This record gives sequence, C-alpha cells and structure tokens, in this order.
Amino acid sequence: MKRITVALVLVLLSAGCSSSDGGAATSSSSSAQSPATAGPTTSAAAPTEVPDPFRADRTKMVDFQIEARLIEDPLTISAMRTVPRHEFVPVEYQDQSYADHPLPIGHGQTISQPYIVALMTEALGVAPGDRVLEIGTGSGYQAAVLAELGVEVYTIEIVGELAAAADEVLQRLGYEVATLHADGYFGWEEHAPFDAVIVTAAPDHVPQPLIDQLAPGGRLVVPVGPIGAVQTLWRFELDSGGELVGENLGGVFFVPFTRLEE
Ligand code: SAH
Repeated sequence: MKRITVALVLVLLSAGCSSSDGGAATSSSSSAQSPATAGPTTSAAAPTEVPDPFRADRTKMVDFQIEARLIEDPLTISAMRTVPRHEFVPVEYQDQSYADHPLPIGHGQTISQPYIVALMTEALGVAPGDRVLEIGTGSGYQAAVLAELGVEVYTIEIVGELAAAADEVLQRLGYEVATLHADGYFGWEEHAPFDAVIVTAAPDHVPQPLIDQLAPGGRLVVPVGPIGAVQTLWRFELDSGGELVGENLGGVFFVPFTRLEE
C-alpha cells in the first residue's frame, strides 16, 4: 500500500449526497457506450435559442454558491454555468434544482449540493483530454459537469435503475459518457489508468483498486468515514515517487458507499 501523508486541514461542512438507504441493486450488465471527448454535441444547423427557464437561477447559483465560496477554476465555473442541472432532478423537485442543498433522486439517493460538485470537480485538477472515473453516477449531473470540461468520463452506479436513468438523460443532452452498472469498489480496470478518480458516496476506507487504477500523478477525491456521521473529504495525489499524498478538504456528509451482496 502506498504511504498516505496528511498535508492540510480546512474546516468545512457541506452536503454531498445524504440518504438513509443505500439501495443496493443486484449485479447486471454494463450499458457502456463508447467514450469520446465530451460536451454536448451541437447541430450543424444555424443555432436556435433553446428556451431555458432556469438560466437566471443557474447564474445566481454560480455567483452566490460557487464563486462567492472561492471556487476559482475557470473550467469548473464555466461547466457549472452551462450544465442544465434541472434536467437531472426529478420533476417534483425541479423548482429547487439550483438551491443550495442536495435533492432526492429516488432509491434513497440524492444529487449532491452544487457547491460540493464544484469543490470536488476543482479538486480533481483535470485538463481537457484527461480520463476520469466517477464512482456513484446517481443522477448523472456530476458526470455531465466533468464531460463539459472536455475530459473522457467513465462512471459506475450500483443501483440499476439510477444507472439506466442517468444514461438516458446524458445521451438525450448529448454528453458522451461511458456508463456502467456495477459495484464501483473494483474501479473499471479495462479503461485504467485514470488521471483522476472521484467517488461521490462515502466508503469507510479507500478502495485499493481505485488507487491501483490511478495514472502517475493521478488524483483521487473521496469522502471517507463512518456511515451516518460526518466524513472527511480527501484529495489524494500520486506524487513523482509513487507515494499517495493526502489533503484534507474538510467535513462532508455523503450517502454510504454500498456493496453488492456476494
Ligand atoms: N454523483 C451523483 C451523486 C449521487 S449520490 C450525482 O451527481 O447525482 C451517490 C451515488 O453513489 C448513489 O447513486 C449510490 O447508489 C451510488 N453508490 C453507492 N455505492 C456505490 C458503489 N459501490 N458503486 C457504485 N455506485 C455506488
């Protein structure tokens, strides 16, 4: 196991996804599509203005929840200004899509608070063309934000219905993201190594396969801690000597990282 060094402690308490029920599903097949450089596809026809009733809400969200809280990465900010978060939220909660908290998405799971999505995205330190693995697709929103950055996105979800629904909305919006219904504990060996790995549910330890699938210099952003209690959001980086250096990004509250039954 690579050595873990704690570098910095910040105080922060925010909600990733909160839930009372892990909602694990049974194992089944993959719905992987061929990944490609991401971002919505555009038509060759003259651009028509698509009505977006939530544009003002989204602008306010970025101004007051993201930039005001010192998220500085221009790519992250631009992605948060662009991705239609309301498309990833169940109809009954759509009017709250841009509010400063997580929202239910069914199966006891939630779409993370916008600030947490921005914080984790920035912490990944990705550049266009990088390969990124997400564990915990949920609604697909975080995957869309990553795709908007121009990275290759691979995302794994343990609840079959959520995996299928996220795949549908990502395709409908033109985001080219590879999705897989599986237990993300084991990562996605076939597409490794990854420049960055993001885990959006909280395990009680860092899954070793996710560390093993990091490219040299790779980053791993993961909330770690006990179920139902405040967890620590960690940013790990594989340094040039192959050591994993950890930075504590503060306290967070995420849904549990669940496992498929043996
Ligand atoms: N990133 C999501 C947040 C989803 S909440 C979004 O943008 O909406 C966390 C998700 O992790 C849940 O959908 C949960 O089912 C999933 N999850 C929990 N344990 C998992 C595991 N072992 N493998 C893959 N997904 C997991």
